[in-house]
Amino acid sequence: MYKIISEAKKSLARVGKLSGRHSAETPFFMPVATKASVKQLSAEDLTSMNVPALISNSFLLSLKPGTTIIKKMGGIHNFMNYHGMTFTDSGGFQMLNAQFLLKNEEEGVTFKSPYDGRKLFITPEDVMRIEEDIKPDVAMMLDNLPPHGSTREEVLVSVNRTKAWAERCMKSHKDSKQLLFGITQGSVYKDLRTKSTRDIVTLDPDGIALGGLCIGETQQQMFDVISLSKKIIPTEKPVYLMGVGSPHDIIECVHMGVDVFDSRFATRNARHGTLFTRKGNLMIDRKEFVHDEGPIDPTCSCFVCKNYSRAYIQFQLKQKEAVGMRLASYHNVWFITKFMEDIRTSIREGEFLKFRRDFLKKYRVNKVRGPFEYSQNLRKTFK
Ligand SMILES: [Zn+2]
Repeated sequence: MYKIISEAKKSLARVGKLSGRHSAETPFFMPVATKASVKQLSAEDLTSMNVPALISNSFLLSLKPGTTIIKKMGGIHNFMNYHGMTFTDSGGFQMLNAQFLLKNEEEGVTFKSPYDGRKLFITPEDVMRIEEDIKPDVAMMLDNLPPHGSTREEVLVSVNRTKAWAERCMKSHKDSKQLLFGITQGSVYKDLRTKSTRDIVTLDPDGIALGGLCIGETQQQMFDVISLSKKIIPTEKPVYLMGVGSPHDIIECVHMGVDVFDSRFATRNARHGTLFTRKGNLMIDRKEFVHDEGPIDPTCSCFVCKNYSRAYIQFQLKQKEAVGMRLASYHNVWFITKFMEDIRTSIREGEFLKFRRDFLKKYRVNKVRGPFEYSQNLRKTFK
């Protein structure tokens, strides 16, 4: 169930409450917990930061450790000891990985197992059964994802298959307490994206995810797809933009009416020394920080910024020590969680546009280094 609580003026930003077995206020950001853990962070860490939701991967969990143990423990919440809202992705995204995709057919997908190379055939009905066993609050349908740069004809095949699979998912999903989100495709072709959005909206799922973005298209192309999709999706449906997680992208997408985000951005970049601050991204490995006793971000109130210096975090990361990766990951996830809280507060208080303006004025998008570049924000899975 989704209920809109507050709407911004002169903007499509809104605060809402998404409720399954657990609930969370939107807009929110989900750290990625592919294998039922956010890398370097425990469930206690996530709880201490008030992380409202996370996303795991049902397809990979079904291979290892398998659904039996997760089902026996009552679902993913008990299994990982996290009691916020959980989503699971279906495996559609794994289709982008040519190393693992063997065949993409009308009936289902054939994968090569990333663990032991064995051949796996998976259908939309299988995906629903797996997600019912793993029991996240929100199950994602199996979509058919074409790689960026596919021809119009290829994208049309994917759009039609996504529709057929969504119909099969709706039909075979039996858990009435679990929310089910549909995913739209269509790449950046406006007519195909329109068709796919209409196809999915017609099925009336609990929420609509915009899939197939952030895989190599330009930021403007992504914004155009969001804007077009929002015109078709009924206002009362939550909108989830898959794979977007940089603060400057998030604030623009919230402005365009997106409610839910996920990305491995915050944790992966932390491990590589790229840290969020209110002034933009800080590359902690730079020479200037070798003797810097200050915190990552002086305005941040996380335990890392209260207790540790840039010099120490840089040294630990350079030594590839787990503690360095943990401190960096904790700060980044805290930063983005707090950022989303501030966005929600600003919407509630009728100050969203001012908040956005002030944020963007201070936030310098770093164009120099690789990992933070929009076009490289690929959701590489199987790793
Ligand atoms: Zn911090």
